[in-house]
Amino acid sequence: MTSEVVELLQELIRNQCVNDGTPESGHEHRSVSTLIEYLGVAGETFEPMPGRQSLFYRVPGSEPDAPTLGLAPHIDVVPVDPSGWSQDPFGAEIVDGFVFGRGAVDMLNVTAAMAVAAKPYLTGEIQPRGDLLFVALADEEGGGKYGAQPFVYERWEIAEVDYMLTEVAYPKMSYANRPAIPVATGEKGAFWSLLSSAGTPGHGSAPFGSDNALEKMVRAVQGIFAEPMPVAITEEWRDFVENLNLDDFLKEELVDPDRVDQALESLAIDDPLFARYAHAVTHLTISPNMLKAGVKANVIASAATANVDIRALPGVDRSFVDSFLYKAMGSARDDVDITPIQDFEATKSPIGNPLWLAIEDTVEVIEGHRNLLPTIMNVATDARFWRKRGTIAYGVGLYDDRMDFSEMLALFHGHDERVSVDSVEKTTRMYREILARFLGP
Ligand SMILES: [Zn+2]
Repeated sequence: MTSEVVELLQELIRNQCVNDGTPESGHEHRSVSTLIEYLGVAGETFEPMPGRQSLFYRVPGSEPDAPTLGLAPHIDVVPVDPSGWSQDPFGAEIVDGFVFGRGAVDMLNVTAAMAVAAKPYLTGEIQPRGDLLFVALADEEGGGKYGAQPFVYERWEIAEVDYMLTEVAYPKMSYANRPAIPVATGEKGAFWSLLSSAGTPGHGSAPFGSDNALEKMVRAVQGIFAEPMPVAITEEWRDFVENLNLDDFLKEELVDPDRVDQALESLAIDDPLFARYAHAVTHLTISPNMLKAGVKANVIASAATANVDIRALPGVDRSFVDSFLYKAMGSARDDVDITPIQDFEATKSPIGNPLWLAIEDTVEVIEGHRNLLPTIMNVATDARFWRKRGTIAYGVGLYDDRMDFSEMLALFHGHDERVSVDSVEKTTRMYREILARFLGP
C-alpha cells in the first residue's frame, strides 16, 4: 500500500511544474491545487505573474513570545532531457522501491514530507506554540523572481519568521568515519557578471592590424580559465573533512589552502562528483559559460560579450570579485568592462539554538546519534531571501542507506532522478518530530 506522502509526491511530480526560466513556464498553480486538496483547508495564494502561484498558510501560535517557524519548500522543477532517462520523468512510477521523476530529490520529496507533517497544524487539529508559516513556493529554480523574492519583499508581515526550514536535504555523508547528517546552514553568493569588449568594424577579408572585439574577449576569457581559483577554507569545511574516513595526510591537505588543489586531483580519481562538490565549497568559482560576438562572418567584430557564473563563499564581495577578474584577464584587462548581473553575497545561519536542538533530538531518536554537520551549499536556494532579513534558515532531510551523498549530487537536476519510498517516509517522520519538538502541542 502506498502511503499518503508517497501519493502526494507522485502527484506533485505528475503535475510537471517545469520551470525553464521563462515567465510563462512553471505552471505552479497545478501543484497549489494539489496541495490545497490534500490539506483540505483553503489557503491563500500569491501570484505575481499569472500561473506562477505560491500557496501559504500562517497559523497563529498560542504563546505570543514563542519562536515562529516557517516551512518553505518549492514546487517547481527543472527541465529534463527524456532521452537520458530509463523511466518517464513525469510518470512517478515506483521501480524497485524508488519513486522516479523530476523533482524526486529537488525537492518535491521534502515538499510532500513538509505538507504531511504540517497538516494537523494547518487544519487546526494541533495548535502550535509559536506561529507556523507553511509556504509552497513557485520559481525557486528561476531564482525566486516570481516566488520567494517578491513574497519576502512585498508580504513580509506574512513571511516574517524567526526560523525556517527549506533546501537542501542532503543524505548522510559518504566516507564518514562516524555517522553524520549534513545540514545546509548557508549558501554561496552569486556574482554573475557580463564582460564586454568593443572593436572597430571593417572588412573581414583584410584583418591585418584590425581592432577586433572578439580577440580581446578571447584573451580575457582565456586568462580567466587559466587563473587558479582563489581558495577559502571555511570552518564548515574543516568540520566536514574531520568527519571523512580518509587517511590523515589527505585530510590535512584538504584543509590546507596551499595543498587543497592537489588533494582534490587525487580525490577526483575515485569520486569525481564529490571532488567537484569539494572544490566548489572551498573556492571562489568562476565559469565563463556564454560567448557572443560579431554580426556576420565577413565583418570584423565590433562587440563581444561573455557571461560568467561566479559563486563566492562568505566574506567575498563584489570588489574582491572584480579585482580578481581584472587580474586574471591580464593584458585584456583595459579592453574589457565588467557589468554585474547578480550581486548576492553568501548567507549563513548560526547553529546552537532551539531549532538546531530540535533537529539534533530528532536525529537522535530516528538515527541513534546526534551528529549534525553544518554545511555551506554551492547552489542558491530561497533561504537566502529570509537569511538576509535575519531569519535562521536550514535545509535538512533523512534518507535510507540506498542514497549516498555523491549519488544525490548527481541526481540533482540529473537523469533518472529518484528517491526511495523509505527515504520519503523517513523524512516525513523527521519533520513530524521536529515540529512536535519545536512547536509542541
Ligand atoms: Zn531545489
